Amino acid sequence: MPIATVNPATGETLKTFDAFGAEEIERRLQLASDAFLRHRMTSFAERSALLDRAADLLEQDQRAIARTMTTEMGKPLAAARAEAAKCAKAMRWYAARAEALLADEYPPEADVKDSGAARAIVRYRPMGVVLAVMPWNFPLWQVVRFAAPALMAGNTGLLKHASNVPQTALYLEDLFRRAGYPEGCFQTLLVGSDAVEGILRDRRVAAATLTGSEPAGRSVASVAGDEVKKTVLELGGSDPYIVMPSADLDRAVATAVTARVQNNGQSCIAAKRFIVHTDIHDAFRDRFTDAMRNLTVGDPMDESTDVGPLATEKGREDLEQLVDDALAHGATAQCGARRPPGRDRGWFYEPTVLTGVGDAMRIHREEAFGPVAALYRVGGVDEAVALANDSPFGLSSNAWTRDESEIERFSQDLEAGGVFFNGMTASHPALPFGGVKRSGYGRELSGHGIREFCNVTTLWHGTDKET
Ligand code: NAP
Repeated sequence: MPIATVNPATGETLKTFDAFGAEEIERRLQLASDAFLRHRMTSFAERSALLDRAADLLEQDQRAIARTMTTEMGKPLAAARAEAAKCAKAMRWYAARAEALLADEYPPEADVKDSGAARAIVRYRPMGVVLAVMPWNFPLWQVVRFAAPALMAGNTGLLKHASNVPQTALYLEDLFRRAGYPEGCFQTLLVGSDAVEGILRDRRVAAATLTGSEPAGRSVASVAGDEVKKTVLELGGSDPYIVMPSADLDRAVATAVTARVQNNGQSCIAAKRFIVHTDIHDAFRDRFTDAMRNLTVGDPMDESTDVGPLATEKGREDLEQLVDDALAHGATAQCGARRPPGRDRGWFYEPTVLTGVGDAMRIHREEAFGPVAALYRVGGVDEAVALANDSPFGLSSNAWTRDESEIERFSQDLEAGGVFFNGMTASHPALPFGGVKRSGYGRELSGHGIREFCNVTTLWHGTDKET
């Protein structure tokens, strides 16, 4: 894939970049490694000051970087501005809390004594250079949620961003530099995915985090496994959105629309499979379809646009094939299932609701990465749980109900890294984020996220006398 900015609203190539050669990669690896030796010795107060400064600058840059993101990957401008604001918030969150999250831990005295020690301490030490392989869909947020905790823990970062968001990738390197981070603490590598294996195998790289598709995750995890290096994988999702009869239907419908079409439908935690109790299924279907049909599809720079283009031509083709396969196997399109008539340029696709979806269809098992909803009818809670779990993915899940026994059942049985009740899945710096099954492993955000790339070190002190 060429490293280039191609506007998805027009298909026009705006800027191309040469990939770094071997010499430049080597230079940057050494810079990252050298910077780690110094950065790991800095105090939390020094690290917090740098990250807070980066947050200040990001807030000042909000409008400009939002336009860059929208130009590169097509998300509506307001969503791009909100993403920048969210990143600044997460930076401040980690700047304020990292020291407490990584404070030394003291096991109970009786256990310390039992281990034969006079004193035992658990210390969170940084691991080293962390390689981050990141996707284009939230081109700032995905990076910041790795970089903020990694830098606060004392690691240094190397970013290999998706090839279609090079300007956002370069902006991030510049942002950390302007904030005052010493050279080498955070660098962007303009490289294709073919360069990842060599970088990951380099002895100076300690660990890797990848957010992206399952094939990319598998590839990076196998190389890391071969090298015995730690990884965190945040992969795809096909989150269920269950609606039971006790739900507030108006809110469930309105939220379902946002949950499906946020980021033009290209979010790992977007609700993708809508599992609705038969008592309310038809009412939900009709209202949901109406709302999806009435969304404004168009230029993402226009403030009135709800749904912009898909980020890449290939992304639209994949989505079309998924919908065509479902229709060929008997699904019905309640709306959409086509390119918007009259729009010849750009990779637009109409918001789509499919009913009659069954397990012979690819969409039943695969992720629909665009504004396409699969709607199912179920007879009760057992069927809802079974259908929700009948997926290779397990990122997050949503359940709308006011029934306490159903809430407990979903809390216990949905196979996912999160269950969001009467609302939609969203990430927040304080809440762990990640999945199970083919959605990956490890967690980002919260204390769990910052500890992923720490060496959990046992400091054990023997007694002076024999016991
Ligand atoms: P992608 O094609 O997997 O790309 C993600 C990153 O991996 C890019 O930097 C890409 O580089 C690189 N890459 C691709 N193949 C690789 C390989 N074999 N070895 C090493 N690196 C490789 O995914 P995408 O299309 O950008 O993003 C969409 C996917 O990401 C969806 O499945 C979505 O659900 C998932 N996602 C998950 C989360 C989460 O938190 N769980 C969040 C957002 C997105 P190039 O661009 O150079 O190919």
